[in-house]
Amino acid sequence: MSNRQTKTDVILIGAGIMSATLGTLLKELVPDWNITVFEKLATAGEESSNEWNNAGTGHAALCELNYTVEKQDGSIDISKAIKINEEYQVSKQFWSYLVKSNLIRNPQDFIMPLPHLSLVQGEDNVTFLKKRFEAMSDNPLFQGMEFSDDPEKLMEWIPLIMNGRTTDEPMAATRIESGTDVNFGALTRMLFDHLKSKNVDIKYKHSVDDIKRASDGSWELKVRNVDSGTVERHTAKFVFIGGGGGSLPLLQKSGIPEGKHIGGFPVSGLFMVCKNPDVVAQHHAKVYGKAKVGAPPMSVPHLDTRFIDNKKSLLFGPFAGFSPKFLKTGSMFDLIGSVKPNNVFTMLAAGAKNVPLTKYLIQQVMLSKEQRMEELREFIPNAKSEDWDIVVAGQRVQVIKDTAAGKGTLQFGTEVVNAADGSIAALLGASPGASTAVSVMLELIKRCFPQQLKAWEPKIKEMIPSYGVSLLKHPELIEEIHTSTGRALGLSNELQPAI
Ligand SMILES: Cc1cc2nc3c(=O)[nH]c(=O)nc-3n(C[C@H](O)[C@H](O)[C@H](O)COP(=O)(O)OP(=O)(O)OC[C@H]3O[C@@H](n4cnc5c(N)ncnc54)[C@H](O)[C@@H]3O)c2cc1C
Repeated sequence: MSNRQTKTDVILIGAGIMSATLGTLLKELVPDWNITVFEKLATAGEESSNEWNNAGTGHAALCELNYTVEKQDGSIDISKAIKINEEYQVSKQFWSYLVKSNLIRNPQDFIMPLPHLSLVQGEDNVTFLKKRFEAMSDNPLFQGMEFSDDPEKLMEWIPLIMNGRTTDEPMAATRIESGTDVNFGALTRMLFDHLKSKNVDIKYKHSVDDIKRASDGSWELKVRNVDSGTVERHTAKFVFIGGGGGSLPLLQKSGIPEGKHIGGFPVSGLFMVCKNPDVVAQHHAKVYGKAKVGAPPMSVPHLDTRFIDNKKSLLFGPFAGFSPKFLKTGSMFDLIGSVKPNNVFTMLAAGAKNVPLTKYLIQQVMLSKEQRMEELREFIPNAKSEDWDIVVAGQRVQVIKDTAAGKGTLQFGTEVVNAADGSIAALLGASPGASTAVSVMLELIKRCFPQQLKAWEPKIKEMIPSYGVSLLKHPELIEEIHTSTGRALGLSNELQPAI
């Protein structure tokens, strides 16, 4: 036991994209606040935010079919797509501000322009895609979206997917140029380098083992030095639990009533990766298909060009699976350890409701490489086993809670859970995830710092001109944001270096 003790303004737990984003926002809003970060691993961005642990899609609802639902009357509800697109524009504006202010450099190291396509097969799906295109293409947020069911056009757009196709089942795709591939790992590391230069105290290999409320209302953390095993006590007025999958157990330890009756359902993932330059050169897009019947939304198959370390590769997946771990580096006891007297009925109800899903996920874990290749061949008919390797992706812990839809309902979004006095907050859930980190952290700021918000608003608006404004109601702002973020982040095609 060490007797080391510190007091600070803010503690961020975890060095993923969420803590990186919150820390960077706070440093701009209140530069003189002292911030300390505790991360149990040796570097930043090693869990879900790492480039090989997620798909790197800048989620703007340009291609993800699960963000647009077909209503009973056959019309397409695009409200979720609009929300996600607007949130992504917020992220792009903040990243542009950081580049323009020289707080981070070389945006091509973390964001690249890449067409986003949705691809479907079969008559019903083609009809759905066409209706979806009609509902979206007039909307200024989705300007430039094209639709085609012409095999020649599809061959031009996605030759690797169309080559060697023998069926004459109808196929159709939508394509939009303004999509992006984002290396969230690189961005996380850049933001932590920036925070270090602003004197943020970043403690790697320090695991937060416990959180307790102190008598003066601040929070005392029990922190273990992973190398030496010594235990330290650190106190802060505000704590953000940004532990990714590790957030739920820490939230439970804080004992706040808002953290009760919540459970977590871990979903593991695998990708297949191709680095054969001949194959990689034949594809330049993110192509999202439709989830199989019974499959959860996070297992929508997609074939993506990725830009990682100045190299192009292809990623296919994710194959969702079941593992009781809450983090890739977590423990087999994470799930069982998260069952508490206050959430046991919520968890049991979720368990009973999700037997088919759990069965599906366990079956997915058992798939052999050749069976995964067969799924890949639905996308790339000529795919060869020797060109593709398996990579283990990050863990997602989906939130389980009691909602109007019933006890123990599985949620697929992200959720901020905060104490009523705003002194502690946690981020739970995983989707749409890193792409919307800036909006999610702004929401957290709004909830946890209501007294300061008024004074902070001018600076927030300087960083994010669309803050508090519906882009849909201000189409002129959309054009302005596309131009300014495109320029700052190097997203215009002519500005891109050849890779
Ligand atoms: C397979 C997969 C595909 C995805 N695809 C996309 C995508 O295409 N686009 C997108 O926008 N999002 C995607 N996501 C979601 C996105 O990756 C996550 O939402 C995001 O990375 C979460 O960031 P985070 O900072 O909350 O968590 P993380 O990046 O997981 O960071 C949490 C950190 O906290 C640390 N930590 C945990 N517990 C403790 C503790 N007790 N003490 C100290 N440190 C601790 C961990 O070591 C870790 O470094 C995907 C996720 C997965 C798993």
